[in-house]
Amino acid sequence: MNKVELENKFLKLVEYTYIYGYEDYVKENILPSDLKRDQFGNYYMKIGESKTLFTSHLDTVGKQKLKVNYEIYEKDGHRFVKTDGNTILGADDKAGVTIMLNMIDNNVPGLYYFLIGEETGGAGSRLLAKYMFNMLSNYDRCVSFDRRGYGSIISRQVGKWCCSDEFVNDLSIEFGKYGMDFKSDPYGVRTDSAYFMSIIPECTNLSVGYFNEHKVTEEQDLDYLLELCNVCTKINWESLPVVREPENFDSTEPEYVQKVTDLPMYKLFNIFDEVYDIIYEEVKFLCANDNFFKSEKEMIFYDKNDLEETLNFIAIVHSDGSITLKKNDIKIKIKNIDSLKKNKKRLKSILSFSHNLYIDEKSINYN
Ligand SMILES: [Zn+2]
Repeated sequence: MNKVELENKFLKLVEYTYIYGYEDYVKENILPSDLKRDQFGNYYMKIGESKTLFTSHLDTVGKQKLKVNYEIYEKDGHRFVKTDGNTILGADDKAGVTIMLNMIDNNVPGLYYFLIGEETGGAGSRLLAKYMFNMLSNYDRCVSFDRRGYGSIISRQVGKWCCSDEFVNDLSIEFGKYGMDFKSDPYGVRTDSAYFMSIIPECTNLSVGYFNEHKVTEEQDLDYLLELCNVCTKINWESLPVVREPENFDSTEPEYVQKVTDLPMYKLFNIFDEVYDIIYEEVKFLCANDNFFKSEKEMIFYDKNDLEETLNFIAIVHSDGSITLKKNDIKIKIKNIDSLKKNKKRLKSILSFSHNLYIDEKSINYN
């Protein structure tokens, strides 16, 4: 596709906010007819012999499919696009979709996955990781095109390193050959490639030039996107080194037998949601394995700025609705969610310490 065609493709993709459940409309109206649909609703295409999986996501964050009215304007010598302020734009992640469509158009070898429900906890990628392990384990690298801003090669997400320094360096050199500045960014949160970190050695996420995602002020640097579309067809993806060992970041499955006194599963899910909300509100920690929640399971909380993982702590929702928080050798037992709410300020001071120097009690009970 030439620049005009690429720009029109992107603008067509952001005509509506296609929320989770509406991905088939994107396919019918805009994507190539020869894409295949998998059993989970994702779309994919394989080109040539390749050990590289490329991903972007078809869904846009939101509660409703809405018509988008956009305008193009100039800022810092670049052309940008944003909406009239009534909707978000959806450049997250139609920018990534546009890049992949252009790579397909240029026959760049790879397995291309257009995933569903990324904004709903990686609905499509989670199922792929769970049921397509054998297929995915043939791949050496997974590159997602779904990072805000400019020049990030995400090297860390869900609180773990997702690709090696060697991989980042060589990819940075490749981009440099074509005049683009990309470097390591260890402050990623999570995108689809995170779900493959326990299967595929090198996983990353690359900046695609959108800003303020998930807000009505979302904007896309169009010139940056067009340049990236071109450069991504030239990069030698297959030559990138494979160094990292796939690492499972989920905790082990709990062994437990259901008892008559146990709360029903949906209640335990609700309790965990509340626990997560309180923890995020108080200390801004994220959960690495919230999508795999089970009662009695160790749910891992991390601070995305804590590269050494010294701040990590564990939360467990027990099957009777009580809660345990564990940090280093401190264990805090909490009778129920109401008790957690009552004590959240005190918990904040405990959970924020990187070392437990100031705490005498090793076991604290909140009733
Ligand atoms: Zn996204």
